[in-house]
Amino acid sequence: MTLQSVLDEIRERPGTGDVIPVIDPSTEEQITEFTDGGAEAVNEAVARAKAAFESGVWHEQPARERAKVLWKIADLMDEHADEFAELDSLNTGMPLAQAKMILPTSAEFFRYYAGWCTKVNGNAYEVQMTGGVSGAYANMHAYTLKEPHSVVGLIFPWNGPIFNACAKIAPALAAGCSSVVKPAEETPLSALLLDRLIREAGVPDGVVNLVTGYGHTAGAALSTHPDVEKIAFTGSTEVGKKIIEASTGNLKKVMLELGGKSPVLIFDDADLDMAIFMAAMGIFVHSGQGCVCGSRIFVQRGVYDRVVEGLATVANNFKLGSPKEEGCMSGPLISAKQLKRVMGYIDEGKSDGVEVVTGGYRLDRPGYFVHPTVLAGVDPATSRLYQEEIFGPVVTVLPFDTEEEGAALANDTTYGLAATAWTTNLSRAHRIAKKLQAGTVTLNSQLNFDHNVPFGGYKQSGWGHEFGREGIEGYLKTKSVWAQL
Ligand code: NAD
Repeated sequence: MTLQSVLDEIRERPGTGDVIPVIDPSTEEQITEFTDGGAEAVNEAVARAKAAFESGVWHEQPARERAKVLWKIADLMDEHADEFAELDSLNTGMPLAQAKMILPTSAEFFRYYAGWCTKVNGNAYEVQMTGGVSGAYANMHAYTLKEPHSVVGLIFPWNGPIFNACAKIAPALAAGCSSVVKPAEETPLSALLLDRLIREAGVPDGVVNLVTGYGHTAGAALSTHPDVEKIAFTGSTEVGKKIIEASTGNLKKVMLELGGKSPVLIFDDADLDMAIFMAAMGIFVHSGQGCVCGSRIFVQRGVYDRVVEGLATVANNFKLGSPKEEGCMSGPLISAKQLKRVMGYIDEGKSDGVEVVTGGYRLDRPGYFVHPTVLAGVDPATSRLYQEEIFGPVVTVLPFDTEEEGAALANDTTYGLAATAWTTNLSRAHRIAKKLQAGTVTLNSQLNFDHNVPFGGYKQSGWGHEFGREGIEGYLKTKSVWAQL
């Protein structure tokens, strides 16, 4: 499948709503366009998914056969790796080399969850109570069955299109669910190629159903639909709350992977060269459009000046460019809307008197590029840019004195997605890991990921987990069965 055929295919998708342009954010030029599928496309997709589930065509297949199909999807993705990388780099503006690195990791979700297909088991229980209505529980047997949610809605954002798609579709398929998949309206392209390969691998019709459209139309219709049992959502906290509200009609189960304002603590005993470089990478890579990006850096006072200077040096040498530019380390922001949002926070900071150590401006070239920005002198109590998720290459740096003060500053946020600490003191490292209020804590490292390690947010960063055993558990229901022997 050539790139052009995906661009053509999306134009021809049926829809009844607005025409949505697909923009290359590194040039601001339109690549293609499509019509919003809206509620109508969602209703049709849910009906197909429901019929497929009720027919048993997928979840009643032997688990080992489903596993083979998942494995086949991964193999097909590897065969089409270059096309996926090209589509996602064109659509998000991320460097082609980075898109090429993300693709094998994305495909691997299918191999990882292929392994789980045959390992979904309930438990048998010792019944220990005595008494009860029947007088005694003698010779009672109780066990649990794990059963798939029937129709699940999978909604995800633009910042890692193919990764986000695979992180949800793979465990949903492994569990035996039927799904309706809605990628972000900004980045629908790689989902089309994946959809085609899913069918080529042997997933029966109706089991995975792609809908393309806006969040407030298609996404909203999916999250209110009475035949959808569960929504697995990745996106902003603001929309996550809307999903919860929309789910009350039929009390859908909801899994949410939401925003973050992740702290990075750098102690004076840290390997400073490494800490500075990684902390800078941890916010400037992908132009800060990563949920776990460390956007608030706290530095122990004795090394504060050195760290601030080091961050500025990395920022000033951080080469931004369009996907195929030589040596490019990061692409642009995703859209004009996101550019306006990021520059809005920076401009507000400037008028509040925040110190701009470096950056703080849009590059003078086509594309939504913002220079990596380091800000100091922020007032934690009043500054919106310090408190709210910006989702851009903007980091605030503040000093702290004691471990307790550092932890308190780090935890002073409504978010709780990720946190990092840099220290060579082993005891402190583990003490601080316990203190930090985040679903993922990273010690002397940053931006880690493995399919086997659960990922989820504390506080307003989410509900539930993805990846690992928890990732498939989220698509399963537990039924308790009692039997009198
Ligand atoms: P967003 O919340 O605006 O959109 C995410 C998805 O939800 C899109 O597909 C969108 O079309 C859809 N949507 C929008 N409104 C909807 C509605 N009313 N009902 C149903 N669906 C709706 O987020 P975004 O701007 O696309 O992505 C950036 C956000 O995603 C950031 O907050 C970031 O932190 C978060 N994110 C979180 C994780 C994580 O794992 N925790 C990973 C990546 C991104």
